[in-house]
Amino acid sequence: SEATMDAIGESLAERLAAVRGRIAVAAHRAGRAPDEVTLVAVTKTIPPGVIAAAHAAGLTTFGENRVQEAQSKRAMLDLPGARWELVGHLQTNKVATALVTFDRIHSIDSVRLAEAVASRAGTQGRVVPILLEINVAGEASKTGFSLAEALDAARAILALPHLRVEGLMTVAPIAADPNNVRPIFAHLQALRELLRREVPLGADGGWRELSMGMSDDFEVAIEEGATLVRIGRAIFGERPSYGA
Ligand SMILES: *Cc1c(COP(=O)(O)O)cnc(C)c1O
Repeated sequence: SEATMDAIGESLAERLAAVRGRIAVAAHRAGRAPDEVTLVAVTKTIPPGVIAAAHAAGLTTFGENRVQEAQSKRAMLDLPGARWELVGHLQTNKVATALVTFDRIHSIDSVRLAEAVASRAGTQGRVVPILLEINVAGEASKTGFSLAEALDAARAILALPHLRVEGLMTVAPIAADPNNVRPIFAHLQALRELLRREVPLGADGGWRELSMGMSDDFEVAIEEGATLVRIGRAIFGERPSYGA
């Protein structure tokens, strides 16, 4: 009902204001401007009505981790100025749908996937903004390039047409204390510096974006240079466990 949606909108606006405040404080602590950090609202499992309320509360960048779910939500919603970004693993058989659904892909985790995206982008006549996902801690449960293979992967991917490589992404291990994953974020920033030296993109070196930090660790990530924080639960509340 409308009353329910108003109530959802109010608590959402409060949580969003709190998150934005924490982003600003963390940025200031690191001597950075808050507007150097873009908030990507992760809306996996969140129903379209709540996403519309989030948009009304001022959110414009939405992150999803499943192609089909994002495609159907995007088709149901017409949100002016909204951008949809893929933050989860992409299977090569879903590349075509992903490219008509997402404005940017954070999760390029193999050269083979990059080739599939490049090839499809070519047939669609467009250039796709991407980030390379790095499995900094080398966790077996996660995809992504290891720190050791990142430079070779970057060289191979930069040789492909129809892609705009904008930076790096990582998902830190789960930690009881977010300070425990600070080295993960610091490693990603160090890798970016190496890539700027070895495979610079444009006059300023490029590799601008560092997509790192989630609800439990975004402040530490911002202190270590995050430019894109991907936040779900701190804005929308806990997800049902099947969507974790
Ligand atoms: C779910 C998810 C997030 C957001 O996680 P929260 O803990 O809800 O903030 C960020 N990044 C990726 C890749 C995710 O899958």
